[in-house]
Amino acid sequence: MSNKGVRWYDRLALSFMGPPQVGDLSAPVREIEQPVRLCPTCGISYDAHEVVRDPRLTWTRCPEPQPAG
Ligand SMILES: [Zn+2]
Repeated sequence: MSNKGVRWYDRLALSFMGPPQVGDLSAPVREIEQPVRLCPTCGISYDAHEVVRDPRLTWTRCPEPQPAG
């Protein structure tokens, strides 16, 4: 699409969508909490796992279960 076609499409989109809604530019940055990924096998976070890297395959090794109490 040529530059003229892009400008035509921008004018068309602006006519029914309006300007982009970017929100308040002076608003404070929100901290987004990252979800903790849990291992489906042992239910412990992947951070506690050992990553085993092999030239052909990479996998994670579950940590030893902690004794209760
Ligand atoms: Zn695991």
